[in-house]
Amino acid sequence: METDCSALRVNSARLRADFDALAEIGATVGGGVSRLALSNEDLEARSWFADRIEEAGLQVKDDEVGNLSGLLPAEDAQAKTLMIGSHLDTVPNGGRYDGAIGVLAALECLRRIKEAGLKPRYHLEAINFTDEEGTWKSLFGSNAIIGKISANDISDSLHDNMAFRAALYRAGIMLPELGNARRKAETVLGFLELHIEQGKTLHDRQCDIGIVDRIVGRTTYNVAFYGEAAHAGTTTAEERHDALQGAAAFIIGAHKRVSEEFSEGVVNCGYVSVTPDSFNVVPAEASLRVEFRHPDTATLDDMEARLIALAEDCARAYRLEVAMERVMHRAAERMSGYLVRQIESACRAEGVRCMSIASYSGHNAQIMNQMVPAGMIFLPSVDGISHNPREFTEWRHIEMGANVLLRTIMQLAV
Ligand SMILES: [Zn+2]
Repeated sequence: METDCSALRVNSARLRADFDALAEIGATVGGGVSRLALSNEDLEARSWFADRIEEAGLQVKDDEVGNLSGLLPAEDAQAKTLMIGSHLDTVPNGGRYDGAIGVLAALECLRRIKEAGLKPRYHLEAINFTDEEGTWKSLFGSNAIIGKISANDISDSLHDNMAFRAALYRAGIMLPELGNARRKAETVLGFLELHIEQGKTLHDRQCDIGIVDRIVGRTTYNVAFYGEAAHAGTTTAEERHDALQGAAAFIIGAHKRVSEEFSEGVVNCGYVSVTPDSFNVVPAEASLRVEFRHPDTATLDDMEARLIALAEDCARAYRLEVAMERVMHRAAERMSGYLVRQIESACRAEGVRCMSIASYSGHNAQIMNQMVPAGMIFLPSVDGISHNPREFTEWRHIEMGANVLLRTIMQLAV
């Protein structure tokens, strides 16, 4: 039995072997991975993960929404649980690191603590959350844990719900039982997630570890400009009610306004459709989907008001009508200050270079933070590439991050 807890380190070779084996499940040409939530590949990854949990002598826990965990129980059955994890699902042809690193590192930390013969003061749980990426419903598993998913929620106009229900059923997830995945806040000590940054900040600053202090809020809109179809040749410029001109002015204006007035904000328009969609007809209708993000909820709301005003200005300027429909709004999250300090002290003890960082992507930690204190550790993504087969994080950073995670768990729970 090892007695010097501060010397406890992850088994890097074993973690790497797990990483390589998992990357084979759903592997695509070019080094990517397709493990869409509830697909054959995702189910195979789950059963592979369950095997690793059993092999390590940990308890397998599979909840009503398909979240899959390895448990290292505390002696006191009434103790709270420290949850640690991320997700094994990916986007289509995504990278090998996104999500996977967080689940595998959590498992490795529990294995090390168990094989060192240490008795945790709190139950430790390494968890893989169902459908983080939103193949069916974004952040599905973590939202179920905080009680925000019920059978009635399996309705989303963007997707074929019959197929979603069938996929859930095939994975052994029963709609009437979804609500039972909810955990009581008083039974959970907190949540930790190790994840790649998926941006360039750490890479550019040559920093080893990012300690997430805020996760961006995000609002999405459907915006439709309405004009009038007309002959492309015979209609004078003054007579046109060109919906696409208004939409184009809005897109350019939105980027300009956000960069000038909201230095920490970002806006994106990645979908445009035009009716009647004919090169020789003045567009009668232009529909956009717009999303914008900011790490502060009040400022996100200011951005929203400014973008609505901009759309109205653009409609007026081009003699159009505009309709705006708010589709989604997720508030920004400020991560637990206590956990930020715990991770900082773990970084100091490990001698790694760290910095505070805001996350511009959504994560399970953002959902868990709504119920219990959550902390997040970011690893550098080379060139910031993610959701892409070329996603890459240097192994030394993964090892550092896993050791910071292990030390944080030791400080909190062992
Ligand atoms: Zn992820």
